[in-house]
Amino acid sequence: MKKAICIDCGAHYDVRRQLLGYPICKPCGEDAARQVVRCVVPLPKGNYTLITRKEELRNLNQKTSCYQPR
Ligand SMILES: [Zn+2]
Repeated sequence: MKKAICIDCGAHYDVRRQLLGYPICKPCGEDAARQVVRCVVPLPKGNYTLITRKEELRNLNQKTSCYQPR
């Protein structure tokens, strides 16, 4: 079977995964998913907001954020 090569760790993975649009292997994909996931952002109002998407974080327009791209 054809194998695709992970752009992250260089491991071989199922080419069907690549065809689905994932340039990385499953373990790396799970790591990435876990990283993006959620963070809790303290807002000036005093409440904490759960953020699940980077876009939401941007929309908050705060000086600080806990999102750190690799
Ligand atoms: Zn990988």
